[in-house]
Amino acid sequence: MKISKEKIREQGYRLGLDLIGFASIERFKDAPENMHPAGIFPEAKTVIVVGKRILRGGWRGIEEGTNWISYTYFDYHGLLNTFFIPEPLYQLACFIEDYGYEAVPYYPGVPETHMSVKPLRKGQPSPDVNLAIRIAATCAGLGEIGWSKVFLTKKFGPRQRIHAIITDMEIEPDELVKPGTICIKCMRCVEGCPSKAIPHIKENKKIQIKIENNQYEWADIHFGRCTLSYHGGDSRISPFIHKDFPGWNIDASKQDFSEEAAYKFCWTLSTGRWRKTNEFPSGYIIEGHAMLQKWGEGGSYGICGSRGCMRSCFDYLEQRKNVEQTFKTGKFIKRKRWILPYKVSRK
Ligand code: SF4
Ligand code: SF4
Repeated sequence: MKISKEKIREQGYRLGLDLIGFASIERFKDAPENMHPAGIFPEAKTVIVVGKRILRGGWRGIEEGTNWISYTYFDYHGLLNTFFIPEPLYQLACFIEDYGYEAVPYYPGVPETHMSVKPLRKGQPSPDVNLAIRIAATCAGLGEIGWSKVFLTKKFGPRQRIHAIITDMEIEPDELVKPGTICIKCMRCVEGCPSKAIPHIKENKKIQIKIENNQYEWADIHFGRCTLSYHGGDSRISPFIHKDFPGWNIDASKQDFSEEAAYKFCWTLSTGRWRKTNEFPSGYIIEGHAMLQKWGEGGSYGICGSRGCMRSCFDYLEQRKNVEQTFKTGKFIKRKRWILPYKVSRK
């Protein structure tokens, strides 16, 4: 039995998803084989990209400098990525399979971090295929990748997380969003980023891709610096380092770690234990980060909380009325923003 794409969309919304877009497999023709949907499901005809909003209020505590838990627990790895999206996505995949088409539920992995293993059959990719989920979402007409490399939609700007379903059902693709429709190249993301991970447009460091006749571009992000800030190696945006590392003198914006080296550094510091002493009685290297990682259900946690690439971005896009969801009580950034010195005094 055939089913219309509007019926699938309706069902997805009914289940609680906020965003649903359709990409034909042809739109992935330039994808490397280890990021191609057909690498997972060779008979794939369509990639359905789904998303759910990140609440604006999820960031309120970090913006005010008073609460980090809500963001990590509700709007990042704690529930949004591991429950609020996977549950309706799985139900939508069941709905598609009820009509006689196979539906692969896809959790957005990180293509760069997987080990390379030899292909199990001649002529197929090795068993570490992962979609570039933001490019998939662009292919599905949900929006475009902003200068910050964060995926932007008309409805929420940068405020969503996205997953996908790969299916052998042939579905008419949605229209692509033209480059420059949402990202206005305002550079608010660059100014708001504590670790200077996003190059200014004047530096001309960018990545470009073509989908059909559209050329999309975004900044060539310094992921080592971003990871340092995001996961707990940047004292400018972590009061927890100020508590547990008197004498710290590391300026994240001057470091040149690779992304992997930054992860290794941050996760060890943030999740590791240390002996209990009078000076540091908690038993953790950085207690605040370790507690936050637990609220991320053992997965990822956010210290930076996307200060520039998401919070500065949607604050400005809302004011410019370049996103559909705006708020009756005014702009998001309501006060002078806090930022700590990177040097932590020993008192
Ligand atoms: S802040 Fe947002 S809209 Fe402005 S340049 Fe950055 S990504 Fe684009
Ligand atoms: S997450 Fe933080 S450090 Fe990374 S790009 Fe965004 S604002 Fe910069």
